[in-house]
Amino acid sequence: MDHSEGGRSTLEFDLCIIGAGPAGITIAREFANANVRVCLLDAGGLTIEREVKDLSRAEDVGRLPGSEDRHRVRAFGGSSNHWGGHCAPLEPDDFEKLDWIHHSGWPHGFDELRPFHVRAHDVLGLGEFDYDPESVGAKLGYKTFPFDPTKIKSTVSRYNRVRFAPTYGDELNNAPNIKVILHADVSDIQLEEAASDKVAHVLVKTIAGNEFHVAAKCFVVSSGAMENARILLMSNQQRPAGLGNHSDLVGRFYQEHLWHSSGCIVPRTERPDLKFYFNEWPLGDIGVRAHIAMPANMVRELRIPKYRSEISAVSVAFRTAEAIQLGVTMSDVVALISDPVGLGTVLACRSESIPTAYLLMNHVEQIPNPDSRVTLSNQKDAFGRPQPRLNWQLSRLDHEGVVRSQRAIAQEVGRSGFGRVRIELGEDDDTFLQRAFGVGHQMGTTRMDNDPALGVTDGNAKVHHTDNLYVAGSSLFPRCGWPNPTLTIVATSIRLADHLKTQFRADGLL
Ligand SMILES: Cc1cc2nc3c(=O)[nH]c(=O)nc-3n(C[C@H](O)[C@H](O)[C@H](O)COP(=O)(O)OP(=O)(O)OC[C@H]3O[C@@H](n4cnc5c(N)ncnc54)[C@H](O)[C@@H]3O)c2cc1C
Repeated sequence: MDHSEGGRSTLEFDLCIIGAGPAGITIAREFANANVRVCLLDAGGLTIEREVKDLSRAEDVGRLPGSEDRHRVRAFGGSSNHWGGHCAPLEPDDFEKLDWIHHSGWPHGFDELRPFHVRAHDVLGLGEFDYDPESVGAKLGYKTFPFDPTKIKSTVSRYNRVRFAPTYGDELNNAPNIKVILHADVSDIQLEEAASDKVAHVLVKTIAGNEFHVAAKCFVVSSGAMENARILLMSNQQRPAGLGNHSDLVGRFYQEHLWHSSGCIVPRTERPDLKFYFNEWPLGDIGVRAHIAMPANMVRELRIPKYRSEISAVSVAFRTAEAIQLGVTMSDVVALISDPVGLGTVLACRSESIPTAYLLMNHVEQIPNPDSRVTLSNQKDAFGRPQPRLNWQLSRLDHEGVVRSQRAIAQEVGRSGFGRVRIELGEDDDTFLQRAFGVGHQMGTTRMDNDPALGVTDGNAKVHHTDNLYVAGSSLFPRCGWPNPTLTIVATSIRLADHLKTQFRADGLL
């Protein structure tokens, strides 16, 4: 029953989802045609509009100011309107608590998420759940690097640029139990009363100047990692620190995947059968591409965060000219010099080297850093709400991880006789920390931990100290590993939908 209160009408539903990107749309679809009344609110319309986009503007005071703003899309479908479709599941050790990475550890393990990763594959149209580089490479007739897999492993990613708005818009529109409301910007989440843990309704504002409430039994905030933190912090009328911010953690641990090159593999001989690494190749309706990464045993031995290297074939001459122009010092592999077998290989390679090098472009996990943070700015948006204030910070280990593994890669490339590595990333300088940029994967700001002192949300994504408020998206990730986040965003959203279904069943609704 919809009603009006204090001049604002209230729309009533069972489930209210705030934000219609991959996370919100996935949850809504899980309830399509069910006996649950769903409201899916999105701040944007069907296209990107300047006035709406300005409502996302952040005060950016951290590293590389301004670089992160352009990544967010305030429109139906969210950032899936321009994402790259690059997908891979997290790896088992991404979920573990590691003594060299503070604040690591998910509240559940890899096996718990596995069936949801498989279901997410269907949502993203990624075909068979096969991430074995040998098996996928064999289907294309491409080989993988001949390295010892306990030293350097190959990985495979699958690509499908699903645009959630055109792909799933009609399905949502046609579901009689789902109401999608566009240009509906959530500005506040209100509890029944200050002492209550139960959310009663959200306040929605529109650029046309209207305001209304949406009441529901259950709420999910799925507005992206910056906006999820902003909405919880802005909801501070009844709890002055904001919702979920009992331990001052909302907005902290802001993470990105870092993008930076570190050098080149120079092979001894031409290897056209390694094409698998150089491009995305069609496999049925999707694309696939191989990368290299450190295997779990090396990650433990080197005590590093995770990363993958994407490889492009480049001309050595061009690379040298570019490096000289940039003033980068190119040192051959220090580690090999102390290794007589490796040194022999280096010398052999030098005399035979061919004009091709394999450039290592690294996609690096940023380790959780409590000082890397989204707070509320004093600057206001057109609705008079505080803009998010981003203070994005890296840690020394973000750089160290790449440096340590470059040495390990160089050793194995030399030992195997494949070629040599030219490391272009200085070990002691700050080039990486200053220049690595983010790729639009904002994560970590409402981290999950079953202990309310250590997390904003629990292992079911429920905001601590609330009864019926949940979060979806990569803001939940305590750690992000190297895989691009959206497959895991969709997987965790399906898991949350299953949890909500159980709740609704217990309440006799489903
Ligand atoms: C250039 C680029 C390339 C990318 N490529 C890849 C890739 O190859 N692989 C990969 O895995 N990921 C990629 N990503 C990241 C991917 O797009 C995001 O991880 C994903 O879209 C996040 O989904 P989401 O639903 O959590 O949030 P979003 O997609 O950000 O959606 C959030 C939604 O919430 C709405 N919203 C925001 N605030 C409010 C509010 N107050 N009230 C109501 N609604 C609100 C927004 O309008 C938006 O529709 C890329 C991102 C960018 C920018």
